[in-house]
Amino acid sequence: MAISRRTFIQGAGAAGISTAVSLTIPLAPKAETPLPAIEKKDEGPRYGMFIDLEKCVGCNACTIACIRENSTPRGIGYIDVLTMEVSRGSYLDTYFQPMQCMHCENPACVPVCPVGATYKREDGIVVQDLTRCIGCKYCMQACPYQIRHFNKQPPFTFRRPNPSGGTYPGGVVLKCTFCQHRIDAGNITTACTEACPAHARYFGDLNDPDSEVSRMIFTRKGVALLPEKLTHPQIYYGLPKTERRV
Ligand code: SF4
Ligand code: SF4
Repeated sequence: MAISRRTFIQGAGAAGISTAVSLTIPLAPKAETPLPAIEKKDEGPRYGMFIDLEKCVGCNACTIACIRENSTPRGIGYIDVLTMEVSRGSYLDTYFQPMQCMHCENPACVPVCPVGATYKREDGIVVQDLTRCIGCKYCMQACPYQIRHFNKQPPFTFRRPNPSGGTYPGGVVLKCTFCQHRIDAGNITTACTEACPAHARYFGDLNDPDSEVSRMIFTRKGVALLPEKLTHPQIYYGLPKTERRV
């Protein structure tokens, strides 16, 4: 039976950062899925990710690794691992789908920011300048993936991601950075990719057709979420067998 919309139940994360929220998002139709370039481009890297939903076991190791890596304020995590339910008559099939900032090629969050606090780098990473953010939340409303987080707490001093530490201001919007501090230091792996025990995550240069991430997207026919929003996410998913059977 063809199912065009499914209920995503946001599971309570192992770190206790997720609340039980139900939301309905249409899964990207395969036919509209953009695939990465297959010819080598002379320009610099364009970072992206492939997440294999066939392999993801919903353990939240990525969620916790991200919290540790970024020392996020209490109650805020940049990754939510959703439990997906597919109704099959008298029973439900389930699988897990991690969600985080998609680092869109055409990010809906960028043009709405009145102070230019969120912008896209040359290498494709969509960053958040916490020194400029005024906490207006326009970006949160514009993001079709609902993966931005408002820090309601007072300024929070952290130890990571760099040894000298820093402070998250209160009243700002936070989100996944694709571990930009690691990339800037020459380490081209995100903390979530490193931590995944199921090897469900692949991170790298989408402009390089020989990179592991490009090859996985191509061979597994990676799909991007909500293509009708024209944001062109740079995170692609490999559908689990349970979806491929629909
Ligand atoms: Fe912006 Fe949302 Fe796309 Fe991230 S997923 S780049 S926050 S529109
Ligand atoms: Fe899935 Fe890997 Fe994250 Fe565990 S660590 S929830 S297997 S992506």
